[in-house]
Amino acid sequence: MHRRLQGRTLFVPRMTDEGAVAFAAAFRSIGIPSEATPFSDERTIKLGSRYTSGEECYPEKITLGDFMRCIEDYGMDKVAFFMPTAGGPCRFGQYRPLLSKTLEQAGFGSIPLVAPSSANSYDGLGEHSGELQRTGWRALVASDTIRSLRLRFRPYEVHKGETDRIADESLAEICRIIERQDLSQKEKLAAMVQGMRKIGERFAGIPLKNETRPLIGVVGEIYCRLATFSNEDLVRKFEEYGGECWLSGVTEWIFYTNRDQIQELIRNGHRFSRQLLMARLKNHVQTRDEHKLVEPVRHLLQGREEPADVREVLARSMPYLPFTGALGEMVLSVGKAIYLHDKGACGIADISPFSCMNGIVCEAVYPKVSADHHGIPIRAFYFDGTQKMVDQEVDIFMELARNYQRKRRFSEA
Ligand code: SF4
Repeated sequence: MHRRLQGRTLFVPRMTDEGAVAFAAAFRSIGIPSEATPFSDERTIKLGSRYTSGEECYPEKITLGDFMRCIEDYGMDKVAFFMPTAGGPCRFGQYRPLLSKTLEQAGFGSIPLVAPSSANSYDGLGEHSGELQRTGWRALVASDTIRSLRLRFRPYEVHKGETDRIADESLAEICRIIERQDLSQKEKLAAMVQGMRKIGERFAGIPLKNETRPLIGVVGEIYCRLATFSNEDLVRKFEEYGGECWLSGVTEWIFYTNRDQIQELIRNGHRFSRQLLMARLKNHVQTRDEHKLVEPVRHLLQGREEPADVREVLARSMPYLPFTGALGEMVLSVGKAIYLHDKGACGIADISPFSCMNGIVCEAVYPKVSADHHGIPIRAFYFDGTQKMVDQEVDIFMELARNYQRKRRFSEA
């Protein structure tokens, strides 16, 4: 992989603002110059629209637009792109072939693409696969955790902007550890745990208002719910209208693909194979790393604990979208919505790109989920870059969530 990328910067798409920055640091740790794509803007949409037909999903348009901006700004000989892919029932599997084709047709076919797949649980990352997977995983856990802290503290901060400043500085601090090349895996984990401890201390020092806000669980399509540009920073809007958000991170998707890989091997008769052993081992190591990295800040996220095992989410989705038949994010969205309800959420927002298959299937199932869970408001928010009424929609949804909160308190009392 190194040879192909020589003299280039590998750009990581901003699937999440924090995750892309941290994952780029993981690439730097194996000697590959890497950055997150610059923050999306109007030029992203303009370029994305120029190279897509309108049938593609919104995240594809944004990713492509951002890559094209990189080509314009840095030159085609200086860039390479990271584009993970997945099979399953939706169009995500087409992103990578479409990107190759578009670059080819535009005369940029020589730009290298690094494209690991969910089919092998993102194992195929070249000669540094093992090292990068381990560091990349830790980068994702740390960045998910910093985002959770940001969302836990920001709605209650006394000094506006303080939480964002601390979260941004924390991310930069942890990236400085992630990118180090002089540490063994063991030393790096220890340094990151120490880094998370310091981050926890900084968050714990933020002065907070004493108020109770309705908790809004946020699920949906992974890119659109996590990339603030694509959803017009909906989470911040919920906060402006009086809510606190609990946003599903990236790591649950990785745990889901791990589980899927294990099931697939068993289904295909590899129950006693080395492959299965390695897949189980990887899941075990990742779970252990996650516990270690989250532990120093666990007390700050009390009541906002992620499921100990992805099976907790899958079991909850079972009566509506059995994971044995349905695949991909729709299963996680429905199961997580119920998990968040069980943890005290007073409303569920599903963020999806307009025409997203996962979003459409979930929207069909949500009325039943709501009816079975005391009428909790569940609303699908679709985005394609043309929304006009987001504020009104959030305002109405928050009113429903407040009503539900009152009802819930009354029945609990
Ligand atoms: S999850 Fe939705 S938006 Fe994402 S690729 Fe699939 S259909 Fe498109």
